[in-house]
Amino acid sequence: MTASEAWRERDRQVLWHPFTQSQGWGDEDFPVIVAAEGVHLVDADGRRYLDGVSSLWCNVHGHRVPAIDAAVRAQLDRAAHTTMLGLTHPPAVELAERLLRLAPPGLARVFYSDSGSEAMEIALKIAYQFWQQVAVPGPGSRVLRPESSLPGPGIAMTGLGSPGTATAFHAVLERAGEDALAGAVAALDDVTLAFALAGCPATLAGKVFRQVPGERSLDVRRRLGRHGGSEAQVDAARCAFLDRLAGAAPALKTPRARRTREPRRKQAFLTFGEAYHGDTIGSVSLGGIDLFHAVYGPLLFRTVRAPSPAAPGALDAVERLFERHHVELAAAVVEPLIQGAAGMLVHPDGFLRRLRALCDAHDVFLICDEVATGFGRTGTMFACAQEGVTPDLMAVAKGLTGGYLPLAATLATEEIHRAFLGSHADQKTFFHGHTYTGNPLACAAALASLDVFERERVIEGLAPKIAAFAEGLAPLASHPHVREVRRRGLMAGVELVKEKAAGMPYDVAERRGHRVTLEARAHGAVLRPLGDVVVLMPPLAMSVDDLRRLTGIARAAIDAATRGK
Ligand code: PMP
Repeated sequence: MTASEAWRERDRQVLWHPFTQSQGWGDEDFPVIVAAEGVHLVDADGRRYLDGVSSLWCNVHGHRVPAIDAAVRAQLDRAAHTTMLGLTHPPAVELAERLLRLAPPGLARVFYSDSGSEAMEIALKIAYQFWQQVAVPGPGSRVLRPESSLPGPGIAMTGLGSPGTATAFHAVLERAGEDALAGAVAALDDVTLAFALAGCPATLAGKVFRQVPGERSLDVRRRLGRHGGSEAQVDAARCAFLDRLAGAAPALKTPRARRTREPRRKQAFLTFGEAYHGDTIGSVSLGGIDLFHAVYGPLLFRTVRAPSPAAPGALDAVERLFERHHVELAAAVVEPLIQGAAGMLVHPDGFLRRLRALCDAHDVFLICDEVATGFGRTGTMFACAQEGVTPDLMAVAKGLTGGYLPLAATLATEEIHRAFLGSHADQKTFFHGHTYTGNPLACAAALASLDVFERERVIEGLAPKIAAFAEGLAPLASHPHVREVRRRGLMAGVELVKEKAAGMPYDVAERRGHRVTLEARAHGAVLRPLGDVVVLMPPLAMSVDDLRRLTGIARAAIDAATRGK
């Protein structure tokens, strides 16, 4: 038994691999990687492979870069981890300063997390919370356009919330029996109760207060006295109250149904077909790849879904959706220039710029997911730069540490950050943060990676590499089993088909994409497909010679895997 076989055997006993069907995994001779060097991976039997997908799209300067290794070791001698909750540390501060200097102009704040999914989850929570808070007069107030404007201060003093919801809510309170009210009240927290009762006629409020036990009742009244909730918060609290009531007494359901026909303001997201933003429930809600996402349908929140930007007529469809839904929209969420996990779908030039203009015209935030595209993959440091676009929120991860350690960040404008300022009692804090948020070792690796970018002028040196990569892939365009070669910078996808002329795909069970990776491995390169799209995403550090070798291996592997049955 070789060293690799021994490790594989142990792996099969205990591991459950990501995005992997365990059944059948045991029959395969998957590589056991024990070391890495430059752009190569080395397995337990000493075989070397080109890292053709940058260790899942994150490695940038190659492996074991002396300067990054040294920076992590130096940080180990200081502290491996300390929290960002209530404390700070120099690498986190320095990295934020440097990121903001590199990011599109206008981004001013950095919120750390550990993965791309979390960075997106954070972006959507920030956008959502922003719109709940802006109605409150204060430093974060945002002047809204007339059609999406919120009630003026006169109304705010007597209780915010949209009149339709208030009417429905009060009608239900009127009809609700004591038992149902008691049940609902017991299930709701004090803030929700106080918000829901804002602007409520005294007789109805009294009817509710009678169901709140003594001390609690006082707390709720106190909160009500200074509720400070926005229109959307008050609406949301009334809806929560109605939901509880309907749960306790189903006969009260009718007005609830009427209420839900009103569009909720600034609580929805515009997303794109084929999008991928990560694997947590919030980021999955934003995604549009049925294979990954459909099974979780009932757990997800609904979004306003536009076609993939790569689909014909997508821009017209997006414009129509903005016209119809802008009042509801908190933000539009997009992978700039190219949808990676969809199989490298390239967007038309100008799409991102047009989307930014639509967001501006309708007072909707733009969230750009640069998790895959960030740090040079498309030829510029960030993809947004190619269209001169600054998003309101931008997520980065993967390449942030050069592919060394898990670290992610959500960048925000100062306007957004300001809306979260207030006293503790205002409860505008962004209540989010993970144990390893801003981990110092990861920040040290990221700083060292940015040093390499600068010192070696990495971005400036990309043009000949991108040209060699494109040249190496070009012959595949006329391959009888290749439908399309799609590429931006050093991100590429080669879509395989059974019959080119008819565009007929292979049967999924044939796993042709997977077969290509097995062939590539035998020729000395690690690739990972997305279905029948063969993905190549080499580290930026890969030399022109190695890029020629990698694309040559891909061509040979595609030939071999599409030959015969
Ligand atoms: N967004 C995009 C565009 C991605 O490609 C990915 C991962 N491939 C993610 C988000 C999720 O990142 P992570 O795997 O680090 O959670």
